[in-house]
Amino acid sequence: MREYLRRRRLDPEFRRIANARTMKHRQTLSGAKKHAEANARYREKYPDRVKETMRRVDQQPHRVAKNKLYWSQLDKSVKSAWAKVWSARRRLKVNENGGSCTLEQWQDRCSLYGNCCAYCGTSLESKVEIDHVIPVSKGGSSWPSNLVPACRSCNARKHAARWQPKLPKPATDYFRF
Ligand SMILES: [Zn+2]
Repeated sequence: MREYLRRRRLDPEFRRIANARTMKHRQTLSGAKKHAEANARYREKYPDRVKETMRRVDQQPHRVAKNKLYWSQLDKSVKSAWAKVWSARRRLKVNENGGSCTLEQWQDRCSLYGNCCAYCGTSLESKVEIDHVIPVSKGGSSWPSNLVPACRSCNARKHAARWQPKLPKPATDYFRF
């Protein structure tokens, strides 16, 4: 019996009929309600899975293109309003995560990485950006140990990901005799 059910699930024709039946059920009031409840239960049980799925969906090429088009057509005032909301949210999160870094400590961090981007190793002069290794959105603090110098490109590409900073290679030539 189990074997029969398994085979039936894999049968495309059966799947088509079953899917159509499900979709039709969802259009009824009680079906829609049940569906919404099941969704809510799933979201509550597996918040990480839902987040991951949403992230993957947003990275689909047609979604990316749609988003780009949407932003390019958006009114300037709306854009700046959004920017304000985001920076306020980030500021709030920075305060929540705690930590502080003096200018001296930051300069120490920069020289630790040889004044280079901690991710790609490009030399940074005036274009250095402060990067949170554990992103602010993931609870990363602003203590010096969580801050590294990064180039514009790496910092922009990194977003809320977690990358491993690389220390520059020590000048081993010095030790060769
Ligand atoms: Zn870089």
